Amino acid sequence: MESIERLAEMFIRFPGIGPRQARRFVYFVMRQDAGWIDAFIRELTQLRAATTQCTACRRRFMGATKAERTCPTCADTSRSNETLMIVEKEVDFETVEKSRAYSGRYFILGGTISPLEEDRAEPMVHALCARIEAMTQAGLSEVVLALSATSEGDDTAEYLHQRISPLAQKHPFALTMLGRGLSTGSEIEYADTKTLKDALSRRTKLD
Ligand SMILES: [Zn+2]
Repeated sequence: MESIERLAEMFIRFPGIGPRQARRFVYFVMRQDAGWIDAFIRELTQLRAATTQCTACRRRFMGATKAERTCPTCADTSRSNETLMIVEKEVDFETVEKSRAYSGRYFILGGTISPLEEDRAEPMVHALCARIEAMTQAGLSEVVLALSATSEGDDTAEYLHQRISPLAQKHPFALTMLGRGLSTGSEIEYADTKTLKDALSRRTKLD
């Protein structure tokens, strides 16, 4: 595979980017001078070096020291340990936090789970189950699936429902999902505060 194809393959992995846009990005990069390319590489490398993955919620966050592996939200003792909200990605977490409609704990999946890629999702599901088990020791009473009302979000919710149900039978917590205040097709990332509050207050229990 030549350079152009390899780079296009990398851009296709960005959220919302299709093959045509990926090629446009490649041609854009090809037109930049060496200084711009060096700065771009430097920023990517520094971003990676300056962020840490939180051991509790799996969010990538900035400003951690070597000793600190827990993000400020997970380290905040004023937050409730009774609820754990599962979201797809960091921007969803940010949207929910901005709404101030929720004060429990989080788990960030880092992507959706498609039926064809369940093997790839296995380490993430394993980490999630370990987190739930640990939280049952700290008074967990509810796990909320807060996924987008899209087909990818539905597939992910369905899969997690199957995987978390056995734990919900073993421990005294309820498994719920956001109420459909979120209309079909809407993504958590773009939901406004009122919609999120509605969806949270009308969450439904899964069996
Ligand atoms: Zn965290």
